[in-house]
Amino acid sequence: MEHSWGIDHLEKIVLEAEAIRKVAPFLMERSLHRPLIVADQNTSDAAGKALIESLQSQGLQGELCLLEPNAAGDVVADEQAVVQLLLEVKPGTTDGLIAVGAGTIHDIVRFVSHKTGIPFISVPTAPSVDGFTSAGAPLIIRGIKKTVAAVPPIAIFADLHILMQAPQPLIAAGFGDMLGKYTSLFDWKVSRLTGGEPYNEQAANITEQALQSCVRHAAQIGQRTEEGVRVLMTALIESGIAMLMFGQSHPASGAEHHLSHYWEMEYLRRGSRALLHGAKVGVACAEISRLYHAAVDEGIFPGRQPNVLSEHGGQIREWMAEVPSASRIRELLALAGGPSTLEELGIDEELFAESLREAHLVRYNRHTLLRALNEA
Ligand SMILES: [Zn+2]
Repeated sequence: MEHSWGIDHLEKIVLEAEAIRKVAPFLMERSLHRPLIVADQNTSDAAGKALIESLQSQGLQGELCLLEPNAAGDVVADEQAVVQLLLEVKPGTTDGLIAVGAGTIHDIVRFVSHKTGIPFISVPTAPSVDGFTSAGAPLIIRGIKKTVAAVPPIAIFADLHILMQAPQPLIAAGFGDMLGKYTSLFDWKVSRLTGGEPYNEQAANITEQALQSCVRHAAQIGQRTEEGVRVLMTALIESGIAMLMFGQSHPASGAEHHLSHYWEMEYLRRGSRALLHGAKVGVACAEISRLYHAAVDEGIFPGRQPNVLSEHGGQIREWMAEVPSASRIRELLALAGGPSTLEELGIDEELFAESLREAHLVRYNRHTLLRALNEA
């Protein structure tokens, strides 16, 4: 999505053990004396309470806003959570919002921060997504997911000791979100060539290097070593920064994300508990790799402009060769301890087939090879 917030909005990134102790000095330096700490029960236990104690010991008063789960037991970025937070913000008093949690809590806070003009600070509790620095918030409004304008945090304090304690499925999900860059980067390069999508070499390079460093450390990430968690969180932040620099999600989101969004909306419609974003993206990346490799091997270059596609066939084949096979992607997902197949993830054949046909409609203004294949 388009937005006016540049990378300069994000002033400070701290990624180290005991990073939460640096929150209070930062708040004081910025004269933010009445922060509201936003968490749910799990993230409050994991980090929120320790953060409040740390603030108090350094002479700051922090209040806690404990977001409530929905009927299915999930804290969701929907109208109810947004209103709960708005009700707990004290006009004229609350001068900072601190998101303590993973992606969903950040989405709620970044939207409220944007609407109230109160700056927000990020304290991630799990290396689970690359959206901590995002300038858009995917919200679920009247049951439909839509991305609305929001703001990135002014600072991130990623505490390695907290991140290492995150539940294994969340860490594996962060790795899945990163592996998705194999197909998002491929889609971006192809769609630049064949669909005239805007492109930025630097954003692509940052994302590519972040991906490669995660792949090299897949086993350490699966074992949750300090080094593995540091590498993963660094990569997620870098991927987020590449999007912020570019101003749109192209570097980090292609057909694998469209499949994931499609599944997510169907789960919402069914009233089922949400699956982790990165877990879906990782498995979707394997499926898209399988589909794309088969299409390229068979020499299918469809689209409205068959000449353009056949003209670039050699280049597309070259890029395709850099995307690992579906089985290699599944192997990496398993190494990091996450689901690697549709079955393990819990997506049924019928939903998968439907999503392959229709996922490109989720974001119709965005070109992908999946869209080209479906329109052929
Ligand atoms: Zn993602």
